[in-house]
Amino acid sequence: MTKQEIIAYLKGEDEKGLFARSSALRKEIFGTKIYIRGLIELSNICHCDCLYCGIRASNKSVERYSLDLEPIRAAAKWCTENGWYSVVVQSGELTNSAFTNKITEVVKIIKEESDNKIAITLSCGEQTPEVYKEWREAGADRYLLRIESSNQELFRKIHPSEISFTKRETALNTLPPLGYQTGTGVMIGLPGQTIEDLAGDLLYLSQPQFAMCGMGPYIEHSDTPLSQIPSLYTKEERVKLTLRMIALLRILRPKNNIASSTALGTLSPEARIFAMEIGANVIMPNITPKQLRGNYSLYEGKISDLDLDCFIRSGFRF
Ligand code: SAH
Repeated sequence: MTKQEIIAYLKGEDEKGLFARSSALRKEIFGTKIYIRGLIELSNICHCDCLYCGIRASNKSVERYSLDLEPIRAAAKWCTENGWYSVVVQSGELTNSAFTNKITEVVKIIKEESDNKIAITLSCGEQTPEVYKEWREAGADRYLLRIESSNQELFRKIHPSEISFTKRETALNTLPPLGYQTGTGVMIGLPGQTIEDLAGDLLYLSQPQFAMCGMGPYIEHSDTPLSQIPSLYTKEERVKLTLRMIALLRILRPKNNIASSTALGTLSPEARIFAMEIGANVIMPNITPKQLRGNYSLYEGKISDLDLDCFIRSGFRF
């Protein structure tokens, strides 16, 4: 598909045809199966000050937490008992050794508690090659690190100066040679982001080194500087764009693991199910201890409960 064709589809041209094609591929490759990954939000302590993110370092109104190892052990036990053999450990970003050693411990505990049955995806930000290697050797299988936007100019506008596009790409490129199944993703509907940018994002996401993608609508958080700048798209439009992005990525990369994100479910629970029909194959229900979920507040209204039955009622199986 050319960039021009992608742009036309993103604008809504022949949406029926697009969804028919992407649904057929989804069915052919995954049938009615949905891959479940239990999401553990390990900590909201973060040294980054991303302009869009509710848990940015300078947001003083967030109550910070970091899970102890015992609740992690309990979550791994619960997953094993319930046959959820895949978890994602996501966290605010730190690079000190207390943090990196803790992740190593967390990985080991999950493997130990599940008799090596649980596959682990880490989403703990930019780290050195040595740290990625240590986590991989401890047992981590996959790594998710979003590029956020493939437009370097836009990337620069939504991040503080110490976070650079080049560094993000360097970190991303370190992962596949270490044996990680690697995933990236973008936010959809960022202030200033255009349809051309999103088409560029799709070409970026469809590069062969990426086997997974997590992308979802951008949602304002009032404690962030970016929330002061309006998006070019209403929330309804962001939902539509997200669905078209997912469908297009399924066509560009038929076998990739593509998530139907929490952000999409926050704006529209129905769209999160519909995303499964037209291309997505992964869902990440939150399994963080309930009393802490409210503190991992990346954006406003973020949902933390997911009714899996509604997927079954729509004809899917896990
Ligand atoms: N530190 C980890 C986890 C970051 S939070 C890492 O770097 O991978 C996970 C994702 O949430 C981010 O990559 C970003 O794409 C998304 N996110 C953050 N703020 C958001 C917002 N306001 N709206 C939508 N998504 C957001």
